[in-house]
Amino acid sequence: MKTDVLIVGAGFSGSVVARELAERGYNVLVIDKRDHIGGNAYDRTDEHGVLIHPYGPHIFHTNGARIAEYLSQFTEWRDYEHRVLAKVEDKFVPIPINIDTVNELYGLDLNEDTIQGFYDSVREPREQIRTSEDVVVNAVGQDLYEKFFRGYTRKQWGLDPSQLASSVAARIPTRTNRDDRYFTDTFQKMPAEGYTKMFERMLDHPRIRVETGVDFFEMRDKVQSDHIVYTGPVDAFYAYCFGRLPYRSLRFEHEHLADTEQYQTVGTVNFPNDYEFTRVTEFKHLTGQKHAGTSLVREFPQAEGDPYYPVPRPENEALFKRYEALAQQEKGVTFVGRLAQYRYYNMDQCVGAALKASEYVLEKLGDVDAS
Ligand code: FAD
Ligand code: UDP
Repeated sequence: MKTDVLIVGAGFSGSVVARELAERGYNVLVIDKRDHIGGNAYDRTDEHGVLIHPYGPHIFHTNGARIAEYLSQFTEWRDYEHRVLAKVEDKFVPIPINIDTVNELYGLDLNEDTIQGFYDSVREPREQIRTSEDVVVNAVGQDLYEKFFRGYTRKQWGLDPSQLASSVAARIPTRTNRDDRYFTDTFQKMPAEGYTKMFERMLDHPRIRVETGVDFFEMRDKVQSDHIVYTGPVDAFYAYCFGRLPYRSLRFEHEHLADTEQYQTVGTVNFPNDYEFTRVTEFKHLTGQKHAGTSLVREFPQAEGDPYYPVPRPENEALFKRYEALAQQEKGVTFVGRLAQYRYYNMDQCVGAALKASEYVLEKLGDVDAS
């Protein structure tokens, strides 16, 4: 079998590169070992007719106008601003922590003029912010750290926040206003007909062929290509020669409630200190679908299983660097995406990385117009 470019993985990273190269006249074969396209952003209708995300809730948000514009070629959008409540003791309060979170938890009546004074009175300033514990304790002190972050993080990562890079908890800001949205990006919308439809359109091009249910490591000798774009785990590409890079996995427990139109008041409820799962998401909030019943997912973190999250901490970064050094020597292979670059990328960051990688691949292919 022959193709100009072989792309391993039909998620955001692989699909964007595929489209870019096809638009420039290259024939592309996209393979994925799963039986569907879309990678972890794949969505489908469950047996009750509710649109669900089998690999956990995916909410699109970006500050990158170019990225929103790029994806808009393949989908219409539906406005959606995600809101999350955290169950702390017997209360359900907004997370990220904002004025109302503090007032509801402590029975206070703070406002925008007094909230920073409150944070200043409880925070424990740390000279250096190295870990996720440092980030939170430095901002809001021990009690809020324990109520919202310590238990959740231990469950999610199997590590104490003091063992994780600061970038993990830094994803969750501390607010000095009453904004209860999970994200503040300028563009917060969901693909109107879902992610899979968007991927179908992205990959619908005469120069793109897609084969699902195909594992790269079982077919790599059978395909001739001028270049490979690899979006799977980087350590697997090198047969784990330096040892396994930790990727955190999840078990998803899906449930349908036939006679419940709405189960919870917001898209996601986090459980920092109760249960073995971290959060419950009700998909109809995300998708806006009308249905007499509702479908939920609970996320149970685990070490084994499909790789979902790189685990940001210094020793993992050091191991990744060893793999990266090998990857950088490859003339005929480009590594891109959350698993191949071992980066805690959101979807929009994968699109950005894939657009950049496409330019690089075009140069490698000797494309005269590549910048
Ligand atoms: P993936 O989607 O992982 O795609 C890689 C593909 O490569 C997979 O389909 C895999 O099957 C395939 N593959 C791997 N190895 C091989 C092989 N040997 N042969 C063939 N195929 C192979 N981002 C957001 O922006 N907002 C969110 O709300 C959000 N929520 C998330 C919730 C969860 C639970 C998770 C896990 C992630 C979430 N993300 C979210 C992140 C988002 O999923 C990723 O940024 C994005 O989907 C990664 O795209 P990718 O193409 O790099 O990787
Ligand atoms: N986090 C937490 N409590 C929360 C929400 C988040 O401790 O209620 C921490 C936790 O370590 C989590 C990280 O912040 O893994 C990032 O949260 P985010 O919601 O961005 O995780 P994702 O959606 O990527 O799983």
